Amino acid sequence: MALNETHDPRLQSWVASANAADTDFTIQNLPLGVFRRAGSSEAFRGGVAIGDQVLDLAAALKAGVLGVPAAVAQPVLNEFMAAGPAAWAALRLELSRALRSGSTQRAALTSCLLPQAEAQYALPARIGDYTDFYTSIYHATAVGRLFRPDNPLLPNYKWMPIAYHGRCSSIAISGQQFPRPSGQIFTGGSETAAGAPTLAPSRRLDYELELGVFIGAGNEPGSAIGIEAAESNVFGLCLLNDWSARDLQAWEYQPLGPFLGKNFATTISPWIVTWEALQPFRVPWMRPEDDPQPLPYLDSTELRARGAIDLQLEVWLQSEAMRRAGQKPCRLSHTNFRHAYWNIAQMLAHHTINGCNLRPGDLLGTGTQSGPQAAEAGSMLELSVGGKRALTLPDGETRHFLEDGDAVIMRGWCERAGAARVGFGELIGRVLGARH
Ligand code: CA
Repeated sequence: MALNETHDPRLQSWVASANAADTDFTIQNLPLGVFRRAGSSEAFRGGVAIGDQVLDLAAALKAGVLGVPAAVAQPVLNEFMAAGPAAWAALRLELSRALRSGSTQRAALTSCLLPQAEAQYALPARIGDYTDFYTSIYHATAVGRLFRPDNPLLPNYKWMPIAYHGRCSSIAISGQQFPRPSGQIFTGGSETAAGAPTLAPSRRLDYELELGVFIGAGNEPGSAIGIEAAESNVFGLCLLNDWSARDLQAWEYQPLGPFLGKNFATTISPWIVTWEALQPFRVPWMRPEDDPQPLPYLDSTELRARGAIDLQLEVWLQSEAMRRAGQKPCRLSHTNFRHAYWNIAQMLAHHTINGCNLRPGDLLGTGTQSGPQAAEAGSMLELSVGGKRALTLPDGETRHFLEDGDAVIMRGWCERAGAARVGFGELIGRVLGARH
């Protein structure tokens, strides 16, 4: 996908806050979400983040200001996701021109703006299926070492992007709060020796720093999406927190993989940064020479040239005590999606190689993103070395895993010289006390 006038870093918007140096929502970004006025019973509808405002696409459509497709005014964006890259690019170009400084549509569009502080968000799509991958080799190795010290990385890892099918019903938008999950926890003896699990609230509750990938048109059952066509089926990306109860997970995960340790809650950020907006930040995808090279269906020249994305990611934490004391969240880690062992095109190509169909609005998780350094870990399990090393918060509290009242905040953005900043905004989720 080539860069075009919408990526021009010189573009400024008549929405002044979109021109601030530190905004995530520049005129080069134009992420899509679904919103309504907070506290109202209005219908949710499509919107675009611009600076600290939301442009109401339903209002713009009704006023006849923009020639946007009716699908973007709906309460979910599945139909627009199904429309494909030409429709997505046409909307982006129209929005870019209408929101630029000097646009003749300024007067008419001003009345279609709502401050983001007054907006409430909903899931941007009816998510039919959710698959969570495991694309960071640093995360896979660190977690594997904790669960299987002798055999951290299983032999299939370097040959295919590993994933499991997750649950959609418990995926919620940023702001999600959920009770600490309970489940079977096995603490006594070894798995082979006599011993019985207990039913208890998880004591090893964790977050996972991930990106979510919203699927565009997808494929018919029985067909496959080839590696070359994969990216044209990616609508855009969001932030994703795959909350994980490590003690439940450790006892249940063999032989069929994650279940109750994962399916109680998943949080995503409200804004989908489109695939087109991310193009200035593409970087080569590389596989170490000593590692197995991918099978042909997972490899391409294009992929080697620019298959990865330079996308910075952060996790922050604010405890209940910090919140009560008016103390700001503290940063736990900072990493980059460019470290992923498998990239997004490979995720789609592998997911469909057996004829499995992806549908518009399906969600893929990238898996926890951890970088090569210990401080770049995307989960608390890694930061606390399996719960053995305490993290100290600025107010002196310590953490091995999440405590009740903890809020986890995730941020992501792209920036480089010669391009405008493109960011994801914020994802926040909070752990409540166990119900039983
Ligand atoms: Ca995960």
